Amino acid sequence: MGLHQVDIGSDAYQQPGEVLAERIGARKKELGNKLLVLCHHYQQEAVYRFADMTGDSLKLAKHAAACTDKPYIVFCGVHFMAESADILTGDSQAVILPDLRAGCPMADMAQVEEVSWAWKELGQVSDASRIIPVTYVNSSAAIKAFVGERNGSVCTSSNAERVLTWALERGEKVFFFPDEHLGRNSAVALGIKPEEIVLWKRGEHLGGNSGETIRRAKVILWNGYCTVHMQFSAAHVRMWREKDPAVKIIVHPECRHEVVAGADRYGSTENIIRAVTDSPAGSRWAIGTEINLVKRLARQNPDKEIHSLSPFQCLCSTMYRIKPKYLLWVLDNLVEGEVKNQVTVDPGTAKLARIALDRMLAI
Ligand code: SF4
Repeated sequence: MGLHQVDIGSDAYQQPGEVLAERIGARKKELGNKLLVLCHHYQQEAVYRFADMTGDSLKLAKHAAACTDKPYIVFCGVHFMAESADILTGDSQAVILPDLRAGCPMADMAQVEEVSWAWKELGQVSDASRIIPVTYVNSSAAIKAFVGERNGSVCTSSNAERVLTWALERGEKVFFFPDEHLGRNSAVALGIKPEEIVLWKRGEHLGGNSGETIRRAKVILWNGYCTVHMQFSAAHVRMWREKDPAVKIIVHPECRHEVVAGADRYGSTENIIRAVTDSPAGSRWAIGTEINLVKRLARQNPDKEIHSLSPFQCLCSTMYRIKPKYLLWVLDNLVEGEVKNQVTVDPGTAKLARIALDRMLAI
């Protein structure tokens, strides 16, 4: 969830990019081994260049946990990622989000109060003890704790099918949140029939379904979505097929099912990076994911032709809030011994969320 960010005000931060970059570099040197800067793949270049480690949210959180000697972890991502890092790191490590307004709209679409209410309603028409909750890692710590407490698991975009299989072996149904599309794409890939996949519309009684529909369902999908990946459409896939029959289309599973079905491949950010990097020189790609990653892949692979699947800029505007000036501001404060914008998860929530994360790691 995006939180209140204090006004960093002073003219010290209203400087040209190269001045800010020089000062960030100097602060990083001063903080030396005490500091770890983590950057998600969707981060803008002006921030990404200062990363000690780059990756997707879980890879970064696990790396933070492994670096027990780093007391300051500056997470250039969004709020739920910093929460996951705080859950996995030790008490002597502070996880810092440079701009607290960097939330994730998808994670915000599943508030724990709404999900708890939906769970109660599900229990009125079916046996809740036979439902396994699964949450995408792109969710709040409170949601992860909800799942941990009810024998469920977290999943990522690379292991969602494996976690769904695990859950269906343990229960009759899966309640999947917050991303409808990752849930649907994974369920379809596992061969679950369309009539057994049910959409739960937030705010409606029984999610807008009859009791009978819920009883028949194998997978119940919360209707959350990623505002970035929803911008790719089947029309974009058709456009590329007509324009260049040899182009390879690869998309993220947060895209709608018709986009995934029309693509040659789909996968997590790490899988997309690997597929493009490992492809032969001269390959042509149209990629359905966040624009900063697509542009970086194009720069890093000059021997290939790399385009966004959409002609429009599909930017994660909340991640984009992490600007160099906020990175500098948190580093300036750390040099002065002040920890600003620390993201903390209360111990009770962290303990339950950790159970759900550990379950995923064991699957
Ligand atoms: S890309 Fe989508 S899921 Fe990822 S942080 Fe941005 S809004 Fe959230």
